Amino acid sequence: MRPVYLDHHATTPCAPEVVDALVPWLRERFGNAASTHAHGSLAAAAADRAREQVAAAVGREADEVVFTSGATEADNLAVLGVAATHRVPGHLISTAVEHSAIRASLDHLEREGWRITRLQPGPDGRIVVDEALRALRPDTALVSVMTANHELGTLQPVRELARACRERGALFHTDAAQALGKVDLRGLDADLVSLSAHKAYGPQGIGALVVRRRGRPRVALQPRMLGGGQERGLRSGTLPVALVVGFGAAARLALRGLDEGEPARLAALRDDLLARLRALGGVHVHGTLTHRLPHSLNLRFDGVVAGELLSRIRGEVSCSVGSACASGRVAPSPVLKAIGLTDEEALGAVRLGLGRETTAQDVERAAAAFSHVVTELRAARVDRVAALR
Ligand SMILES: *Cc1c(COP(=O)(O)O)cnc(C)c1O
Repeated sequence: MRPVYLDHHATTPCAPEVVDALVPWLRERFGNAASTHAHGSLAAAAADRAREQVAAAVGREADEVVFTSGATEADNLAVLGVAATHRVPGHLISTAVEHSAIRASLDHLEREGWRITRLQPGPDGRIVVDEALRALRPDTALVSVMTANHELGTLQPVRELARACRERGALFHTDAAQALGKVDLRGLDADLVSLSAHKAYGPQGIGALVVRRRGRPRVALQPRMLGGGQERGLRSGTLPVALVVGFGAAARLALRGLDEGEPARLAALRDDLLARLRALGGVHVHGTLTHRLPHSLNLRFDGVVAGELLSRIRGEVSCSVGSACASGRVAPSPVLKAIGLTDEEALGAVRLGLGRETTAQDVERAAAAFSHVVTELRAARVDRVAALR
């Protein structure tokens, strides 16, 4: 039996409908969407349809979608692209728990002389809207706060932030890579939105930056990629039509899932999993359970190191630990440190993400595997401690 896949924050399988939609564009319907002959026009029309589907998922217009290679590139384009329109370094507001695509972009700008405010979340994982607004300055070029955290699964108050930034004339960007299909993004009044197809049952290697084109203030953006001037000059490079079509299909499915109550189904399964794990005792959930992606859990078991847990449970469950292996040594995640966990607590963190194909049987099987391994590891620890005495 294959392990139960509980790592949907890392990537999701392509939905069968997505594969069916994109394969013809790798086979007989090849063509460069920029070409003016029949093959090209056919590809361009398919890309336009996909552009509408992606726009619809965030309640926007097709001409606001800039296709990129993923959310990493969209994040870079948003932060570095806005900054590049300023002749002198200014000020940026973000959080201490952003994805590395944002954190690294901010670090880069800081070295160039930009001032960065990194808002600290509470133990619940959320920042406070008023703190963000108090940090605004006349030279604040952009506020960037993610919709949903990739490790904790916790949601930021982005609707209020977007509205408040609009009222104050500040540009607002949100990385919504984890949110697509789990949270309704329509009506979110952000100036810039980063998306990734492969976090929402689309193919890897495609995403978008949605750039507002109507209303005030105008969103000025400098491209990071220079070349043929595709995507209104904001992202040069031949459109990967098959990936774009796949992303469109995934976006359509994301909306359908929201309408059909997929988030509630996931939340019920997730809550069942948590209840089963809590029966082990000594279980701590990281971040709020109230404002959270429906499929998501981040927790630790007293007396258990996540790395050991992961290597023992590999055959039964695929999941992630809250640490990164940086140059051969295990480092606790900066996100978990930012919400106040000690190094030891952070090294105990396990991230679980259920998905569209997860069943009640999967949850039962995963919970049984966790019970078995956690009990074993705790017993081994007690033995080790006894041997030391
Ligand atoms: C996965 C992820 C990214 C990076 O997306 P890619 O498409 O893999 O480049 C950025 N931000 C968040 C929050 C993510 O979860």
